[in-house]
Amino acid sequence: MSSHISSNTDSASALDLHHDNSPAPAEDVDDYLGRAAALLELDASVVDRLRRPKRVHRVSVPLVRDDGEVDLFTGYRSQHDDARGPFKGGIRYHPGVTEAECISLSMLMTWKCALLDLPFGGGKGGIVVDPATLSDAELERLTRRFAMELSDVVGPAQDIVAPDIGTDERTMTWFVDAYSAQYGEPTPAAVTGKPISAGGCYGRAAAPGRSVAVTAREACAHEGIELDGATVAVQGFGNVGGNAARLLDEWGATVVAVSDVDGAIYDADGLDVAAVTASGPHPSVVADYDEAAILTNAELLALDVDILVPAAVGDVLTADTALDVRAELVVEGANGPTTPAADTLFEERGIPVIPDILANAGGVTVSYFEWLQNRTDERWSESRVLEALDGRVVDAWNAVSTERERRDCSWREAAYVVALSRVVDAHEMVETSL
Ligand code: GLU
Repeated sequence: MSSHISSNTDSASALDLHHDNSPAPAEDVDDYLGRAAALLELDASVVDRLRRPKRVHRVSVPLVRDDGEVDLFTGYRSQHDDARGPFKGGIRYHPGVTEAECISLSMLMTWKCALLDLPFGGGKGGIVVDPATLSDAELERLTRRFAMELSDVVGPAQDIVAPDIGTDERTMTWFVDAYSAQYGEPTPAAVTGKPISAGGCYGRAAAPGRSVAVTAREACAHEGIELDGATVAVQGFGNVGGNAARLLDEWGATVVAVSDVDGAIYDADGLDVAAVTASGPHPSVVADYDEAAILTNAELLALDVDILVPAAVGDVLTADTALDVRAELVVEGANGPTTPAADTLFEERGIPVIPDILANAGGVTVSYFEWLQNRTDERWSESRVLEALDGRVVDAWNAVSTERERRDCSWREAAYVVALSRVVDAHEMVETSL
């Protein structure tokens, strides 16, 4: 990395080097990158190129509705960086999807994959659509057409797709089937997060929640919080939050609140988490569970608990809401739940925040195992997957913890420093001959 290091780097000056008007990533990921780059004293030109995606694909996706009308949807795939391996990341179906959001999230994937030492770069895509407004047949046609539109730019060695908000195992099955048909042979390694019957991997669906629980356990040990009996509030009871809550409950923690978009259920003595069955893209814990008090999502964030897990959407912990947080520890289940202003406030208030790129990285880690199995025609047992997953997450935790101690910085800064230095090293290796 040595040739990229400059002692008088002003990371803000990197912005002057742009000669294009492509959409920039959101302020938060850019800010976190800037902070880590400053700690590493990276040269502005190196940081500058990592601020922008390598490529962004924008596609129009026509959909024949069930009534015969044709609607046009917009889809994106941002390919941020592939110096460490093919682009990797999910596709999101949500009305709020934008090109800039895909770029930011693809950048997060680059750091996440590097932090877990996976041989992947970062990608992310999506379609601007509310999946709840489409029938199953329409969703299938939309997904198959999206796969066809992207078929030249994704694939097992180019860019590997996975689920994200609004997409699931079924979406992945349609996507990989359409891709394989286009490609001319079964190509399961083009997509991860598939069902077991279509070449999926045991433990993939529960993996992001599992890494949240494992990092929460490590963080508790580090902070001197006894996990047995520790109180936990989880915002969002979908795939990430639901599985994190169930595992923390199994490990002795007391989950006092969980929520969906409509609000939260709360019981100071602990909820019977196993009985809260809702999960999937549209959990409905409030409607389905009537023995507990109902709180708003804002009230959940302000609960006096040991561990707060924001596992719903981005930007929920802001300069406003962070002031109300009374948790001892925040573990990020969602991607980007904390704004930079809130992050600074938590730092000042001495509340450790375990960042998304570490805490929820279990999903892409098991995606890597799935891709490996597809490429080698193997099938790992569930126990092998879980052991390998926990090992990777604990290794990443240890690397971040060591860096944090060495630099006396936040958990997020340390995680970004570990990830960024690996990506910069890879760039240096591939580009010395250019
Ligand atoms: N969408 C998930 C994430 O944000 C998983 C990505 C993947 O498995 O490629 O980490």
